[in-house]
Amino acid sequence: MAKLVILGGGESGFGTAVLAKKVGLEVFLSDYGKIQEKYRNGLLEEGIEFEEGGHDEARILTADEVVKSPGIPETAPIVVKLRERGIPVISEIEFAARYTKARFVCITGSNGKTTTTTLTYNIFKEGGYDVGLAGNIGESLAWQVAKTDHEWYVVELSSFQLDGMARFKADIAVLMNITPDHLDRYGYDMQRYADSKMRIIQNQGCDDWFIYSDDDPVTAAQLERFGLPMRTLPFSAKKSKEAIMRRGYACSRWQGAYLSGDGFLAEVDGETFCMPSADMQIKGIHNTYNAMAATLAAMAAGVPTESIRKAISEFPGVEHRLEPAGTIDGVKYINDSKATNTDSVWYALDSMTRPTVWIAGGTDKGNDYDTLKNLAREKVKALVCMGVDNRKLVAAFEGVVPVIRDTHSLEEAMTAARKEAVEGDTVLLSPACASFDLFRNYEDRGRQFKEWVVKHK
Ligand code: ADP
Repeated sequence: MAKLVILGGGESGFGTAVLAKKVGLEVFLSDYGKIQEKYRNGLLEEGIEFEEGGHDEARILTADEVVKSPGIPETAPIVVKLRERGIPVISEIEFAARYTKARFVCITGSNGKTTTTTLTYNIFKEGGYDVGLAGNIGESLAWQVAKTDHEWYVVELSSFQLDGMARFKADIAVLMNITPDHLDRYGYDMQRYADSKMRIIQNQGCDDWFIYSDDDPVTAAQLERFGLPMRTLPFSAKKSKEAIMRRGYACSRWQGAYLSGDGFLAEVDGETFCMPSADMQIKGIHNTYNAMAATLAAMAAGVPTESIRKAISEFPGVEHRLEPAGTIDGVKYINDSKATNTDSVWYALDSMTRPTVWIAGGTDKGNDYDTLKNLAREKVKALVCMGVDNRKLVAAFEGVVPVIRDTHSLEEAMTAARKEAVEGDTVLLSPACASFDLFRNYEDRGRQFKEWVVKHK
């Protein structure tokens, strides 16, 4: 019997273990840390062998194949040893896809993944498709394949998941953008990070679809290096249809999405769909990109346009992404805790229509704040830095925004922000940084922000 070792006992590792057992593999799961109770109980119930609090190296190194949680870096000593011995290390998605006939819509990018994935899933559901939502969101793909397989999956893929893909192929691949993020995991090498994102199109053939932003220069530079045998669907919020066509990646009949009047138009396989901005609850240019990409994916899969229109117009957005948190004394509070890199903050600041008190800071992932300076000069009346060590942020914006406050807890930051804001202003939490210095994760940071607003209303 083939031996499968799973590294990491979280959502993806647990799901992989259940599927591996079901398909008759010899399974052993190993977690260097502590396994959450619900997964530990699940493993016990399913009769799957596991260990926690360390790795039994000798046992792991006898594996025929290893599925690694995306959270474990390539530099972890056990991964290095597996690679040295030539034992294949793959991702949960690569593994699970072997055991389903489903078709896949796979969505990646530095920003907009969760919003676009959720919206695409909603559209497919609205169209009556048998569809599962997987990847970084909700139940793992492996678990769903084992328990409730579907005809379609809409999957959010991080670059870490893409790194573990070899034979997997997306039927419809979506690349939102490539901007610096997680560079700490890629040796501060932007090309390595871009290479990882471009794996979204690996193995695609002429029957498959590739949806990408024609406005993103980094994506454009990468595309020059590929043959692109698949059907391409570019989207743009900056160029006319003719200008996009001139770039020439698209096949003979042009298809894609672009701005038109007060909304966007999408053309796929001779069908044209128009979505007015006024009918969309999600706002900002970044959300237009997300809606365009979701629309093109749905049209490529044949979802009727009435279902696309209904699902987009009913979509309220996702928690912690420019989420209105309430109003105190005429000041609007907006929770954008998920903005953990400078590009997503750029879109947040760009969409601000009122004088803004901006709360930022946390664990810096190698940020370059220069790209934000013009917008900050234009929109931000005060910057409240919220982190254990704010020196880099303070230094970057000194002389750019009129007021900078140095705070070290949520309570302190909120008190400072409230003091700086007057009626008609917006307080925006859009940190550009990870949250781990002061919070459990970005959800915890967003929730505490919202709770503070509710308490002080
Ligand atoms: P991801 O899953 O890639 O992190 P999300 O949909 O969760 O993306 O959004 C993360 C952050 O990025 C949010 O703060 C949101 O406001 C911003 N954002 C959403 N879509 C885009 C986009 N297409 N381009 C740039 N920023 C975006």
